[in-house]
Amino acid sequence: MTTAAVIDHTERDPWEVALEQFDIAADKLHLDPNMRGILRECQRELIVHFPVRMADGAVKVFTGYRVQHNVSRGPGKGGIRYHPSVTLGEVKALAMWMTWKCAVVGIPYGGAKGGVVCDPKTMSNQQLETLTRRYATEIMVLIGPERDIPAPDINTNSQTMAWIMDTYSMHHGYTAPAVVTGKPLSIGGSEGRNEATARGAVYTIIEASKHLGLDLDGARVVVQGFGNAGLFSAKLMQELGASVIGVSDTGGGIVDPKGLDPAKVDAFKKEHGTVSGFMGADRITNSELLELDCDVLIPAAIENQIGEHNAPKIRARVVAEAANGPTSPEADRILFDKGIFLIPDILCNAGGVTVSYFEWVQDLQNLFWREATINARLKEVMVKSFSDVLEMSKKHKIDMRTAAYMVAVHRVAEATLTRGIYP
Ligand code: NAD
Repeated sequence: MTTAAVIDHTERDPWEVALEQFDIAADKLHLDPNMRGILRECQRELIVHFPVRMADGAVKVFTGYRVQHNVSRGPGKGGIRYHPSVTLGEVKALAMWMTWKCAVVGIPYGGAKGGVVCDPKTMSNQQLETLTRRYATEIMVLIGPERDIPAPDINTNSQTMAWIMDTYSMHHGYTAPAVVTGKPLSIGGSEGRNEATARGAVYTIIEASKHLGLDLDGARVVVQGFGNAGLFSAKLMQELGASVIGVSDTGGGIVDPKGLDPAKVDAFKKEHGTVSGFMGADRITNSELLELDCDVLIPAAIENQIGEHNAPKIRARVVAEAANGPTSPEADRILFDKGIFLIPDILCNAGGVTVSYFEWVQDLQNLFWREATINARLKEVMVKSFSDVLEMSKKHKIDMRTAAYMVAVHRVAEATLTRGIYP
């Protein structure tokens, strides 16, 4: 049995959650009913079924999705996820969250997302390449540098993006680096993209700690998920002087009150496939990990991790959502009442899409920036966005998620209204 299977999920459909979060902000904004109707739907939902020849010669048919929620503020932008439990509802929710995320940090994109129902852990590199190239071809009716620009998400990485970029370029007869972001540096990727999501999250944690008067030097940090977002968050928090006391992945969690060294845990994970079993640390379940007494809890795995069932047991001072959709609306209310400061996903993890935007700009201009420039510009965006959201939350005496949604929905509604209804 995998650890994922023993997690007590809230089992809420992510799309329902996304709509509920939107409705809360729309009510507060007294949003026009016509605008509400437009923004409650995704503009385009593409479902594809395609065959892939497997290693044993058998042909397997895979299902994939690409959804664009709203593209009023610019081309669609959003990652591609490979996971056995991908559903259309999940992809729609993730696309809607991308719309709000791009708006809350003020970058000129709409929201999109993609996914393929597959288990990459059981597939060879060759099969993954074949699957990726065929999926890219199937969704080519929607993607393009001016139309919709994919990026990595769960179980996809810079190599996946390279295959998509190459497939798109082969079909068009010229090299089109700006069709995807999160590419390797050698083909138009950006410095700093790998760490961008975590770096952006950490900038928001620093801003939150200033607001709360929390000293991050020596602060106890717990990270759920030890992939791109989780590993780099742990490393960057350690660099700030914080002590990473617990981390986890699908294989389970580990805890050491004296502090773990994320680089050593990473080396262990690379060798053994999981953080579980790391010497000197105690094993712990993912549910127990979330309930550890700590200063900063960083969910950096998947959605639906903090619900009504475990929110009362969360003992963190700050919850920083590096993952998308880890907290249900019911849990939001419980955490808010407990005085826990939550940095919502659409703000907290927007560093990834912000540096993706920088990568796209660099590709279109064929002019590349140094890492120091990227990080400085990222910091500027995250600090300004955090301040916009905090101001909204103080003004209306509301939680940070509702505030972030109000900032974002207002911007998207304004763009949609200004453009008008076609024809
Ligand atoms: P990843 O595939 O690199 O890592 C995911 C990690 O989570 C892995 O360590 C995996 O073992 C772990 N995990 C999966 N299910 C789990 C579970 N049930 N319990 C505990 N651990 C579990 O993915 P990533 O890119 O780091 O993405 C993680 C989250 O961050 C996702 O919600 C993603 O949408 C969000 N996010 C990522 C980026 C990015 O740039 N990578 C940007 C914005 C948001």
